[in-house]
Amino acid sequence: MLTPRSRKFLSYYRPYIGRLTINLIGALLGSITLLLIPLCVRYITKNLLGDINPQTPIQIYQMGGLMLALVVFHVVGIYVVSYFGHLMGGMMERDMRAELFAHLQKLSFSFYDRQKTGQLMARITNDSFAMSELYHHGPEDLLISLVNFLGAFVILLKINSGLAAIAFLFLPIMAIYAIYFNRKMRQAMRLSKERIADINVQVEDSLAGIRVVQAYTNEAAERTKFEYENGRFLDSRKFEYRSEAAFFEGMIFFTQLMPIAVIVFGGISITRGRLDLPDLLTFLLYIGILIEPIKRFSNFTRLYQEGTTGFERFMEILELMPQVQDSADAKPLAQIKGEIEFHNVDFQYDIGNDHVLKDLSLQIEAGEFVAFVGESGVGKTTLCSLIPRFYDVNKGQITIDGRNTLAITLGSLRQHVGIVQQDAYLFSGTVAENIEYGKMGASRDEIITAAKQAHAHDFIIALPQGYDTDIGQRGVKLSGGQKQRLSIARVFLKDPQILILDEATSALDNASEQAVQASIERLSRNRTTLVIAHRLSTIQKADRIVVLEKGRIAEEGTHQDLLSRDGVYARLYQMQVRL
Ligand code: ADP
Ligand code: MG
Repeated sequence: MLTPRSRKFLSYYRPYIGRLTINLIGALLGSITLLLIPLCVRYITKNLLGDINPQTPIQIYQMGGLMLALVVFHVVGIYVVSYFGHLMGGMMERDMRAELFAHLQKLSFSFYDRQKTGQLMARITNDSFAMSELYHHGPEDLLISLVNFLGAFVILLKINSGLAAIAFLFLPIMAIYAIYFNRKMRQAMRLSKERIADINVQVEDSLAGIRVVQAYTNEAAERTKFEYENGRFLDSRKFEYRSEAAFFEGMIFFTQLMPIAVIVFGGISITRGRLDLPDLLTFLLYIGILIEPIKRFSNFTRLYQEGTTGFERFMEILELMPQVQDSADAKPLAQIKGEIEFHNVDFQYDIGNDHVLKDLSLQIEAGEFVAFVGESGVGKTTLCSLIPRFYDVNKGQITIDGRNTLAITLGSLRQHVGIVQQDAYLFSGTVAENIEYGKMGASRDEIITAAKQAHAHDFIIALPQGYDTDIGQRGVKLSGGQKQRLSIARVFLKDPQILILDEATSALDNASEQAVQASIERLSRNRTTLVIAHRLSTIQKADRIVVLEKGRIAEEGTHQDLLSRDGVYARLYQMQVRL
């Protein structure tokens, strides 16, 4: 009966069946007690006041005590629902979020090439919240509205079926009205959220580019664009307020209309002797209770829609298989020498796109220092990112020490590869924490040694709190060269056998480049090193230079070899020398 997704949806209740039961018992207690109070009132007004005797005051006090007890039980029940129930929802939300985060960590580069981080963050926060609200409020809203509705229905029907019919005539109308305007309200809210996001995008764009805007004196044009978005936001607000007003005032209209109808028709019934005053009073009290299930039910339809949409999106991600993952027979590789070989490798990022690499074969000795050269976009970065399997090849294979990388567990493969890129990613935190990222749990001594090897120690101890200095988000408080040396220290600490330097110094000025270059030279000692360099002057000492062109190797050899061959490399080199 159940689809796999709905089974999955329900499976999150499994660890909390106990809590769910307590929550539902609380909901039941809260709704039944509420139903009993008007019956007590009826008993007092009809039975006790209808037959006044010396015992009556005591009996009235007793009924008062009973009602007080009912109110206390009601409050306890609702307390359980709103505290334990919410907590259960929160726990389920935590579980789902943890599962989503763990899954996101497994997804491959190709997934992140297509995703916007902001949207993923929204999924982790907003969608989980919407789901948790449904998980928690869904069952209790349904239960409470069902019990209140059916209870009141049965009781009123017993007291006076004609008047009950009139009162219940209102309910479907009210329910339809509530659901309709609830949906309108939700659409309006979503629209305003989108529009405010548009404003944010506009503001960010204009202000981030304020220097350009002012340099071109295009303030007026920017203002016009902004006013357009600003106006559209107001329109959506108008829609939102209108539907909100219609919903709430409509509900008030109906809640006022029901007692009026009951009093009028009930009053007439009394004149005809078909109803008495206590019963009319009872009716009026139940009318008050009936509003509750309607509100809860229209709330439930909202939660249901938002929660299931959130769940669909949640499952869309959870059902994505990581493109790169361990094969069943993958084995860890403890020690390697660092020999790398590409065997007739084809690679394309997306099916249908051009091949970035085509039938590429290349052998790299252990400990060799190989430089890759070629025009921007020729595939140098791509070639290197295939080694740690950030992407998988489409054809051919890559071996390390003669073993297919597909047969090595990802964890151990990546353990052997260190990468320094142009824009080192630093996490918010301290200098020491950022270096430690290369080897979690490294001691302070190891961190300092790595920093010294990366020629970073001196600038680090000059920072206000030395190794414990907070470097700000993404390392904003450091210069480019300093950030790069931290990322090199990280790799020293990791101590991989294979090293990839992808334009590691390209973004730096001359002075920082010198400093970083010195630490890079030290880092590449005794490791297989693949270097991608923008400035050819930095790779003249390479054991071998590989020139890429159109996804293939155009030429390879030492700097001198290639110069004397007077081919692609010689041309590139001449061009740079002349600059
Ligand atoms: P290089 O490092 O030599 O400048 P790249 O390896 O970065 O070149 O890119 C090679 C080609 O692959 C380019 O045409 C580029 O547009 C494309 N490319 C690079 N990264 C991606 C990606 N993540 N998704 C799709 N195409 C990409
Ligand atoms: Mg590149």
